[in-house]
Amino acid sequence: MDKKKINAVVAAAVLAGSSAIFNAGADTAKKYKGDIDLDGSVSARDVMIYKHCLTKTAYLEDEDVEIADINEDGVINVYDEILAKRIAMGIIDPIKIKAENPDPPSKITISDMPSEYQYAADWIWQNRVVAEQSTVRRNTIFDQIIAGNGTLNYVVKWQSYKTVTLEQRRAFETMLENAVNDWTDWLVGYENWPYDHVDVKVVGWAVIDRNVMQDLQPDEIVYDTTTPYDSSFDTSNGVEEIPNVVADPPAELSRMEHFSDPNYEYPGGLDKRFDMCMWATQGFPSIGGCGGDWGQRLSDNAYLSMIDGTGLHVLEHELGHGFGMTDFYGGEGEKGGFPPGGFPGGENSLMMAGSAMKITDFDGWELRYFWSKIKDEDGRFPSLQNQ
Ligand SMILES: [Zn+2]
Repeated sequence: MDKKKINAVVAAAVLAGSSAIFNAGADTAKKYKGDIDLDGSVSARDVMIYKHCLTKTAYLEDEDVEIADINEDGVINVYDEILAKRIAMGIIDPIKIKAENPDPPSKITISDMPSEYQYAADWIWQNRVVAEQSTVRRNTIFDQIIAGNGTLNYVVKWQSYKTVTLEQRRAFETMLENAVNDWTDWLVGYENWPYDHVDVKVVGWAVIDRNVMQDLQPDEIVYDTTTPYDSSFDTSNGVEEIPNVVADPPAELSRMEHFSDPNYEYPGGLDKRFDMCMWATQGFPSIGGCGGDWGQRLSDNAYLSMIDGTGLHVLEHELGHGFGMTDFYGGEGEKGGFPPGGFPGGENSLMMAGSAMKITDFDGWELRYFWSKIKDEDGRFPSLQNQ
């Protein structure tokens, strides 16, 4: 079926009597995910087209798939429709599709940092990051991405008896990739950061019950050997029990266990290693979690609800710790606290829990500042030395 036919189906069903809805002359530099009718915005009309496609009363052409597959999981399904609806309602921001040959990003350096950010950025670096040595260990997410040549691999540690569909598992991978790139997009074109995009893959699942994996595919790797888990120090959500077992992926594939040995070879090659775990625990409170260079731990429900884009900032906060960022639980100017005068830019910081619901401009610059500080450390990033 060609575009005119979709047009006809949709126009007949939705906009009886209306003229053509496809804007053939649309500016391709302004393509947005979900804007199937190419009118420059995602609207109720696009959501209706999804409904028609999902009920097979309309079909998409190959060239429309990139636009329609909002979560980039390779299929057009109800998750894309939900995302389109949320964009149309203004709950999440429209996602711009990159032009085929984008202009090379302009060279940004630390000297471009807004001057009002300088004091707070310096204060945080000296009083928090250096004092707490949070970027010293050469296994920050910066280190992981560079060692992986622009890739980041995860194992999902599913400490839960809730079943997970194939669609949900694919959506988790997309969700992780989006959250990581929401941070690393700040590094694109910045000083000598070498990547335009970080490819994030789930390379295995560590489960406490193999039956949770619905519609298991032959290429999916599952680890299901459990060990006892003592939850007596965990806070429960008061409704569910925290499982008394956990499964761990093999240590020989863990970067965490081997990053200090530059000559270590992962069995099966670099692609088989995993850098971090997405650790989901049943019975955890739905708010709060923890994160580090080992991964991010939240409740299973928190992760499941993020599939449609809700609460992604919670995961992004925990990812911030993986880059060496600190929490700001203490008071103004205090040890463990936030910079005197507060955060510049008027948006606070995602790392001060509860004060911001997204990576703020200041957070983005803080990430860049960290990179500027560690990138030239002796022997830390040998692959960048010749650039
Ligand atoms: Zn935190």
